[in-house]
Amino acid sequence: MFNFILFGPPGSGKGTQSLKIAEKYNLVHISTGDIFRKNIREKTPLGLKVQAIIEKGELVPDALLIEILEDALQQHSKAKGFVFDGFPRTIQQAHDLDSMLGKNKESVSLVLALEVGDGEILKRLLKRAEIEGRKDDTKEVIENRIQIYNNQTQPLIDFYKNKKKFQSIQGIGGIDEIFKSICKIIDQHMD
Ligand code: ADP
Repeated sequence: MFNFILFGPPGSGKGTQSLKIAEKYNLVHISTGDIFRKNIREKTPLGLKVQAIIEKGELVPDALLIEILEDALQQHSKAKGFVFDGFPRTIQQAHDLDSMLGKNKESVSLVLALEVGDGEILKRLLKRAEIEGRKDDTKEVIENRIQIYNNQTQPLIDFYKNKKKFQSIQGIGGIDEIFKSICKIIDQHMD
């Protein structure tokens, strides 16, 4: 299996690029943000549990992430691999992912980060707010999300660097141009 993590701050373009990667390489796209938003729209028990947390820009508790991921991995047990988008976001989640994949003798194949600075992120997310109207795209909440990313998610870079699984590219440029750079790196890692 090829288990790929697309990593980066909110607004770095992970969602857009993940979809393209999943399509090209025939991998299953797992966006934890999309899963939560769907549950919120459908007012499921999970959606009701996480709605307030997400609207504040905070992280959903790690234990809930395990449930969602186990479910997704089970549903797609025949997949050629996964593109993880928005997960893992904490060191605990990274350990949980290792043990979940480990149960099937699988592991994370590659982590690729899209590098985009805080100023550009704020600009992009405020623009997205006008188009999509996501409740967590207000200036105050965006700033909170960036801070949480810097404190809780960025430490994963060293975690994966130590495992020699980490690479990064500039996340600034055209969608197709960035996609090409990503594909080049994936191609070097796929047998
Ligand atoms: P973005 O990367 O643009 O911030 P996502 O769609 O990935 O947006 O996530 C939206 C929100 O969903 C996050 O701010 C967080 O509240 C919640 N969330 C998504 N994935 C996770 C995760 N792995 N751990 C904890 N919370 C998560």
